[in-house]
Amino acid sequence: MILPIVSYGSDILLRKTEEVDLFEYQQNQQYQDKIRSIIADMLDTMKAAPGQGLAAPQVNYGFSIFVKEKHVSGETVFINPKVVKFSGVKKLGQEGCLSIPKLYCDVERYSKVTIEYLVPTEKGLERRQKKFTNEEARAIQHEVGHLNGVLITAIVKGKLITVRQGTGFIIEKAEYWLDDFNKGYVEHKYRMLLPDGFIKEPC
Ligand SMILES: [Zn+2]
Repeated sequence: MILPIVSYGSDILLRKTEEVDLFEYQQNQQYQDKIRSIIADMLDTMKAAPGQGLAAPQVNYGFSIFVKEKHVSGETVFINPKVVKFSGVKKLGQEGCLSIPKLYCDVERYSKVTIEYLVPTEKGLERRQKKFTNEEARAIQHEVGHLNGVLITAIVKGKLITVRQGTGFIIEKAEYWLDDFNKGYVEHKYRMLLPDGFIKEPC
């Protein structure tokens, strides 16, 4: 099921998420079904938007789960991810976020990141540890940020960002984006859940 995407300005995007309970998942079928259904909805919502990654708080669930495009590793679902090690070099690269449509920030990230996480399989949750590089490492650092309540606008706070408007771009401070969004100047192709609980249809 495609869910509305929580917009910037909502409290849930600033809160640290809660871990999926491993014991409950293995022992309680209802809990497992709920987690599986959230993951299925997250994948549907990411594909429909379309987006390259999506964290649970972006569809209004406070769980430590994110999904992402396959990239080179083929991994798509990450439960309770923990950064084991940052390595390589720090690089600037442009990032966008489904919760802040049309806004792009230059964000500094490590070129390599090793994480430990759980993956849902037929037998239950399987623990994996893997090193990701380049664009995939960037995507993972972006999504892990979401699970810690950290948005790209917080990382680049006070700096100028790029906002795509129509066919052109304007440069402004991230803090002004919400004003533009509230005034209806920001286009988005998917339904969004606003901070006041209302749904904003695509525009
Ligand atoms: Zn994001």
